[in-house]
Amino acid sequence: MLFNELDLIEPILNALKNEGYTTPTPIQQKSIPIILRGQDLLGCAQTGTGKTAAFAIPIIQILHNLKANLPERGPRKIRTLIVTPTRELAIQIGESFNSYGKGTGLRNTVVFGGVSQHSQVTALRSGVDILIATPGRLLDLCAQGYISMSDLSIFVLDEADRMLDMGFVVDVKKSSA
Ligand code: AMP
Repeated sequence: MLFNELDLIEPILNALKNEGYTTPTPIQQKSIPIILRGQDLLGCAQTGTGKTAAFAIPIIQILHNLKANLPERGPRKIRTLIVTPTRELAIQIGESFNSYGKGTGLRNTVVFGGVSQHSQVTALRSGVDILIATPGRLLDLCAQGYISMSDLSIFVLDEADRMLDMGFVVDVKKSSA
């Protein structure tokens, strides 16, 4: 199977071509059609099997199609939230959205703890479509009123098993409440 058999929009196909990807990995072949149909999905695959693109590609397509139907005025609202256990994973996911979403005009930002919140707050204030966050900083910025979840339509728990192993269970429950 090739990516161009998955009903993907042109900017995504071009971005994948630029990345040098032609063939979706098994988890991508299975997940992309399900997510594009708007269904919930629980996916399990080893690291390095293309899990990030398996959710990022269909999310970009859904948001891009939604954007075409939205008025251009006003700051962007967070419509996708991805919660992930570590700063490194959060940064990698942000980079994946940048690569696969090139040409769609969608904006993402990454928030994680252990650093000043200043630049993260500035990015949030300017408006983003996709937020990638670690649990503690997410809740902290929510409590301070910098993040609103009221426009969310897509929610991803990345490496959910690892977050639970790391003792984030209370934070994860609060984030998904
Ligand atoms: P992940 O499992 O999401 O960490 O992805 C592992 C690596 O595979 C990353 O470096 C991706 O850039 C790369 N990758 C993801 N999907 C594909 C694909 N369909 N073809 C080739 N490489 C890919």
